[in-house]
Amino acid sequence: RPVIAIVGRPNVGKSTIFNRIIGDRLAIVEDKPGVTRDRIYGTGEWTGRAFSVIDTGGIEIEGEDSLLRSVRMQAELAIEEADVIIFMVDAKAGITTADEEVARMLFRSKKPIVVAVNKVDNLQRMDDIYEFYGLGFGDPVALSGAHGMGIGDLLDAAVSKLPVIEDEEYDDDIIKVALIGRPNVGKSSLVNAILGEERVIVSEVAGTTRDAIDTPFEKDGQKYVLIDTAGMRKRGKVYETTEKYSVMRAMKAIERADVVLVVINGEEGIIEQDKHIAGYAHENGKAAVFVVNKWDVVEKDDKTMQQFTNTIREHFLFMTYAPVVFLSALTKHRLHRLFPVINHVAEQHALRIPTHVLNDIISDAVAITPPPRDKGRSLRINYATQVGVKPPTILIFVNDPELMHFSYERYLENKIRAAFAFEGTPLRLFTRRKS
Ligand code: GDP
Repeated sequence: RPVIAIVGRPNVGKSTIFNRIIGDRLAIVEDKPGVTRDRIYGTGEWTGRAFSVIDTGGIEIEGEDSLLRSVRMQAELAIEEADVIIFMVDAKAGITTADEEVARMLFRSKKPIVVAVNKVDNLQRMDDIYEFYGLGFGDPVALSGAHGMGIGDLLDAAVSKLPVIEDEEYDDDIIKVALIGRPNVGKSSLVNAILGEERVIVSEVAGTTRDAIDTPFEKDGQKYVLIDTAGMRKRGKVYETTEKYSVMRAMKAIERADVVLVVINGEEGIIEQDKHIAGYAHENGKAAVFVVNKWDVVEKDDKTMQQFTNTIREHFLFMTYAPVVFLSALTKHRLHRLFPVINHVAEQHALRIPTHVLNDIISDAVAITPPPRDKGRSLRINYATQVGVKPPTILIFVNDPELMHFSYERYLENKIRAAFAFEGTPLRLFTRRKS
C-alpha cells in the first residue's frame, strides 16, 4: 500500500484529520522511549484506493528549540516513509517560522506535497488561505477538522498524487513468508539460520524493495520468498532513532505475505507492540505462526512450553488459531520444526471446502444449538458457500443479516474450525440476505 504522511506543528489538528481519514479502522500506536512520544499508523481508502496513513504528530522533543527539532524529525520521517505528504498548517496562525522550516525540507525532498489549511471554519472565507500559496506547493486545500469539512477535497488531492504500485511479482504457488517482531528478537539470526540450512537452495540474488529484502529460495521442492525487514539497516541521522521501530515497514511486509512469523524473544516475553503488529496480520487475513526464539537460554522444565503457550494465548486472544514454535536461531535447535508448520498453515490458508460439506456442518451446528430468538424473530440460515481463500472467506445466506449475532457467528466459526481446523489462518464469515 502506498503511504500518506501528515506533518505539521503541534496543535494544527493533525490527529483530528488522521482520525477522520481512518474512520473506524484500527490505529497502531507505537510507543518509543527517549526522543519521541508516539507515532500513529492506520489505513484508509478513498475512491477505491487503499493506502496507509502516518500521523507523525506524536514526535515531540524536550528542551530548548524543541518545537523546531520535533517538526524537523517529523518531516524527515515523512520524507523517508511516505509517497505523499500532507503538510498541515493553521489558518488562524498563518505561516510560522516552523512552517517555513518544514516547507524548505519538504521542497528539497521533491515528494508530492498537499498543503492542508486547517481551522478554516467558514469555508466561504477563502481569503484565509491565500497566504499559503506562498509555501510554494500549489493550491492549498481548506479544511475544518472540527466540522469535518474539506476532508474529501484533501483526499482527492492526496490520492491523485499517489504512485501506481505494481501488482505482486510472485507466482501463486510460492509461499511468501514475512518475519516480524521487535528489534533484537532475533529476526536476522533466524533469516540466516533458515537460508543457511542444508537443503535450502537460494535460487536468485535477493531483491531489495524499498522496505524489505526478498529472498526467493526452494526447500524440499517447495518455493518460498522470505520477506525480511530486519535486514534493512540504513544509516542516517533520523534512521538511528526511528528505523529500529519502523512499524510501517512491518505493516508492508505483512501485506505482501501469505504467512507471517511473529517472532518473540523467549527470554523476555510479550509486550504491547508485539500485539499491535500481530493484530495487523490478523486484520489483513494472513496466516500466522508464533516463533518463540532464544529458547536455548530459557530455563525450562517439562511444563515451560505449555506455560509459554498459555501466556501467548492470553495475550493474543484473537489469534488462538496460530500455532507456536519454540526454537533457537543461534544453536538451530528445533529449527527443523519450523517449515512443516509454515507449510501446514499456508495450506490451511488456501484451503477450499466443498459447499455441500460446509452446509452439512452448518446444519449440524444449527441442529445442536439453534440461533437465539431476537424480539420474537429468529435467524434462518439458508446456505453457506466459500467464496475465497487466503484467508478462507465464507458467505452465509440468511433471512435477515441483522439477526446474526456476534456470539452465534463465533459459534459457527468454532464448528467450522472443529471440522476443518484451519490452523494458523483467520476465517472470514459474512452474512447476506437471501430467503
Ligand atoms: P533482530 O533485530 O530481530 O534482527 O535480531 P538479531 O538477529 O540481530 O539478534 C539480536 C541478538 O540476539 C543478537 O545478539 C543475536 O546473536 C541474539 N540471538 C538471536 N537469536 C538467538 C537465539 O536463538 N539464542 C540466543 N541466545 N541469542 C540469539
